[in-house]
Amino acid sequence: MTNLPLNGRLLFESAPDMYLALTPDLIIAEVSNRYLAATKTTRDGIVGRHIFEVFPDNPDDPNADATRNLRASLERVRDLRIQDSMAVQKYDIPRAAAEGGGFEARFWSPVNTPVLADDGALLGIIHRVEDVTEFVRLKQEQDAERESTAQLRSHTEAVEAEVYRRTLEVAAASRQIKDGERSLREAKDAAERANRAKSDFLAKMSHELRTPLNSIIGFSDVLLEETAGPLTAKQRRFVDNVLTSGRQLLSLINDILDLSKVEAGRMELSMVRVSPAGAVDEVLASLQPLATRKRHALHSELPADLPLVDADPVRLKQILMNLVSNAIKYTPDGGTIAVRAAAVTVDGRTMVRTEVSDTGIGIADADLDRVFDEFEQVGGEYGRAQEGTGLGLALARRLVMLHGGTIGVQSVAGKGSTFHFTLPCAVSAAPFAKPGIATPGTQAADGSKHDGAAPQPPVALVVDDDAKASALLSDYLEGAGFRVVTSTSGADALQQVRTLRPTLVTLDMILPDRPGGVDVLTVIKRQSDTRDIPVIVVSITDDRSVALALGAAAWLVKPVGRHEFLRAVETALRGAPSARPAAR
Ligand code: ADP
Repeated sequence: MTNLPLNGRLLFESAPDMYLALTPDLIIAEVSNRYLAATKTTRDGIVGRHIFEVFPDNPDDPNADATRNLRASLERVRDLRIQDSMAVQKYDIPRAAAEGGGFEARFWSPVNTPVLADDGALLGIIHRVEDVTEFVRLKQEQDAERESTAQLRSHTEAVEAEVYRRTLEVAAASRQIKDGERSLREAKDAAERANRAKSDFLAKMSHELRTPLNSIIGFSDVLLEETAGPLTAKQRRFVDNVLTSGRQLLSLINDILDLSKVEAGRMELSMVRVSPAGAVDEVLASLQPLATRKRHALHSELPADLPLVDADPVRLKQILMNLVSNAIKYTPDGGTIAVRAAAVTVDGRTMVRTEVSDTGIGIADADLDRVFDEFEQVGGEYGRAQEGTGLGLALARRLVMLHGGTIGVQSVAGKGSTFHFTLPCAVSAAPFAKPGIATPGTQAADGSKHDGAAPQPPVALVVDDDAKASALLSDYLEGAGFRVVTSTSGADALQQVRTLRPTLVTLDMILPDRPGGVDVLTVIKRQSDTRDIPVIVVSITDDRSVALALGAAAWLVKPVGRHEFLRAVETALRGAPSARPAAR
């Protein structure tokens, strides 16, 4: 050792560890280079100074206790003269201003060793530190990593648990939905079955009720005609009541039957081209007596060029009948009822919009939506005092909808109501071709093309040798949407019936040659394939009972008015046998 060219100081300074040599008073006596580098201090800056003056605690770290710990350790070494290993200390090193100032976190593992004289006196203390910052960081990182791995794992587990829980929820919900769907479907099936059963029941009931009612109506009619003997005034009044009540009941039953037919999807419309103006005229004429009784002014405003509509003429009149009779009913005496119609365009389609307005009791806003529902009757005291069932508007709405139209109402309570409905216009406005010239779907006489898809109009055969009478009836029938074929002799008539199978026949009983009217009627009604064609007898002779006995649907005396005639046609087509009570 003595050969070494190194003195003790140089040795101490060059030691590859961090050392401080302290006096017993804790003044720094010597320092290794490594210590200076690690603590960013200079030898001149620290040697000769008190250790705690040089290395104060980081004032920004409230938990800093390294100085206190070091002092305690050094005191232990001084007092007990034994080496003291301290726990790892966090002691922050002041950073150079150029590096941003402040303190830099550092961890140290210090060991304080007494330097003793031979007599055991304390000469000084060697303070050795090891910078374990990297180690601590590594450990912290590992811990953090372990921590975050654990966190991750528990997070993943939580997510998995959540996913599982949600999956269960979704499965339960979809089971519920499926159950719900099934019970909905079952409920719908049950409701449809019930509805069909109800419709069937109503149809049967109505039929069973109508048969005896027709007898009631027919026989009271016969009684009133006094063919079975004269009636006293009182008897006439009674029979009149029976007849009126019977008719009311019949119309109610018809409404119920119609409604149930629509609901069951069994309402069939016989669509033809109809003149809405003709229908309005007819309905107003038949309701005029009712209006007169209540001193109402009843009128229509119909443009001359009102187009034809595609409709079932019977149903169109039913709709109008309902709206106009309601207007009469729900308007106190002396009111005004007007029917207006005009062509309008709705969604690019031409429609005929018909309006029925009155100056009656009106409908409260809150009730407007309800009036089209079945059995809904509103309108306070006056309204309730009127006879009704609450079925008319429900049926009218369904019929309009079946035709592809819409129905609605505007009303001011106490002032009046305006009901309106639309019906689609006929595809072509051209009138039906005259027989023998053209039929729908071919080139018409007027050069216009008929739409091939247009509904085929029903055919009516008019049998009359009087050209004027024939023209008049033809006009009525064409107005109602028929294609009319005329015949002037009995032989031709029978031929036409066989080949054309008309929907309806009007028959003059007095024909110039054999076979006469009676023969024609007899043949039509005897043959099974023509038996069901309704025949309306139009005659000047008093052969009513003969005609009806032979099976005529109606018997009218010339000259026949339009409304009377078309009413008979309607009744005949409905198959209502009230016009031939004698046949029952
Ligand atoms: P009802 O047989 O009772 O007349 P509707 O279905 O035809 O049945 O009408 C339903 C209800 O709507 C009527 O009871 C009445 O309260 C109301 N209503 C219908 N038309 C009118 C109207 N023109 N003015 C006022 N209220 C009306």
